[in-house]
Amino acid sequence: MRITGVMVQYYFTCRRELWFFSRGLNFDFENEDMLIGRLIHEESYEREWKEIMLDGVKLDAIRKKDRLTVVEVKKSSKLEEPAKWQLKYYLYILKRMGVEAEGLISYPKEGRTERIRLNPEDERELKRAFDEIENIVSLPEPPPAEKKPYCRRCAYRDFCRV
Ligand code: SF4
Repeated sequence: MRITGVMVQYYFTCRRELWFFSRGLNFDFENEDMLIGRLIHEESYEREWKEIMLDGVKLDAIRKKDRLTVVEVKKSSKLEEPAKWQLKYYLYILKRMGVEAEGLISYPKEGRTERIRLNPEDERELKRAFDEIENIVSLPEPPPAEKKPYCRRCAYRDFCRV
């Protein structure tokens, strides 16, 4: 099974969400938050960007001298932890390809940025997550719904009724 950065983000957000996504129920491209996030992205940064394709996903990065920084722009910090893990996943994949990089998450509306680095404990945590993701995706039925603060804005909320 091919694990992607989006799957890692869903794993750290909601395991049920991950299961739905793994079955091809992917509504997020219609999700208003994502569209707003993209718009903020386009309006907030006019620096010179590099685009790198990784994992079938186009990532934005800044290269200064020999340092590569992968940048994620988010509408809000409500899903801060899952966003960090998704970025750490990209840093992990880059590292395996021999590219040392760091991450930067920007919340333009909150006037805040956070640097993300991958440490050995993060790598162990990601490997545990990969095993768990495989287990969750192979379940015949989705894990039960558990009410979370972000259920209200989740693309799958109609399936959960929490
Ligand atoms: S609505 Fe809540 S429980 Fe259901 S998939 Fe979304 S985050 Fe998970």
